[in-house]
Amino acid sequence: MHVTRLYESKKPVISMEFFPPRNDAAARVFSSTVDDLAKLKPDYMSITFGAGGSTRDGSYQTVKKVMIENKQPTVAYIAGYGLGPEEITDVLDKYQSLGVDTIFVIRGDKPKDGTFTPHPRSFAYASEMIAFIKKRYDFTLGCAGYPEGHVEAKSLESDIQNLKCKIDNGAEYVVAQYFYDNAFFFDYVQKCRNAGITVPIIPGIMPVYSVKMTRMLSQVCGSTITADLQNRIDSLDADDPDAVLQMGIDFATAQCQALLKEGVPGLHFYTMDRSHSTTQILKNLNLCG
Ligand SMILES: Cc1cc2nc3c(=O)[nH]c(=O)nc-3n(C[C@H](O)[C@H](O)[C@H](O)COP(=O)(O)OP(=O)(O)OC[C@H]3O[C@@H](n4cnc5c(N)ncnc54)[C@H](O)[C@@H]3O)c2cc1C
Repeated sequence: MHVTRLYESKKPVISMEFFPPRNDAAARVFSSTVDDLAKLKPDYMSITFGAGGSTRDGSYQTVKKVMIENKQPTVAYIAGYGLGPEEITDVLDKYQSLGVDTIFVIRGDKPKDGTFTPHPRSFAYASEMIAFIKKRYDFTLGCAGYPEGHVEAKSLESDIQNLKCKIDNGAEYVVAQYFYDNAFFFDYVQKCRNAGITVPIIPGIMPVYSVKMTRMLSQVCGSTITADLQNRIDSLDADDPDAVLQMGIDFATAQCQALLKEGVPGLHFYTMDRSHSTTQILKNLNLCG
């Protein structure tokens, strides 16, 4: 399943992102989450990869499970931080043997565990990895984009130039970091088009799962908690997890409706390995299968 073919269709492509479960208990929950979400017939599922190779085997096993056991069209990620060229080809050879067609290429970040030593020939940027992979494999490649600018970027403009480099080196679609104001996304797409980037750019949707998680992730990912969202959070009892979850579903539903109205090529859900919010949002949007 080459993802770019899906984005050629007129219908919005629904994708769902998961991370590999960390232990046996999480693996059992993961299985039922994927079973639940598969019933909604998403166009594809995607599996993240821990920087520094921390989830190398777990990511492979998870891709295998979702693709072979659950029969879901699957995209495998590779985060190159700290990995040498041979370690990257080792991972990719395994995905190729499994029958994976699309690889989402990201640089990744330094693992928090300070003891990790990067390979001396690891790549500095995702664009370099993309060029390296494109020369050696027939995979369709995707890459990440940041509507509010990547946290390390000098400016949004320089970040878009660096995105252009990823496209010029072989990436064929972009999945965007999540945002809580669609204006960030629409402005970003326009700036990318002005910079000569013509590939599909897919909005990432991160429903509010809990106030604590939203605050933590927004710091790490550089996604602004807008005044509108903050007001909604403030109007709730933060100790009532159901109320917070429902607000997140309602907020994301409205966000997706406005995105779809503008003709976005798809919606990419950061599921955080949970099924309830994504299911409810897709039901609200009448986009189940
Ligand atoms: C959809 C999505 C999925 C993700 N999945 C994962 C995952 O599975 N595993 C994981 O570990 N992380 C994941 N991440 C997080 C990602 O690894 C981090 O955001 C990381 O900090 C940047 O990765 P990148 O591929 O965008 O890096 P890059 O494209 O390399 O950019 C990193 C920074 O370097 C700058 N830059 C790029 N090229 C140059 C250059 N030539 N000179 C100077 N500066 C440059 C960019 O502007 C940016 O600020 C994901 C992010 C997104 C949006």
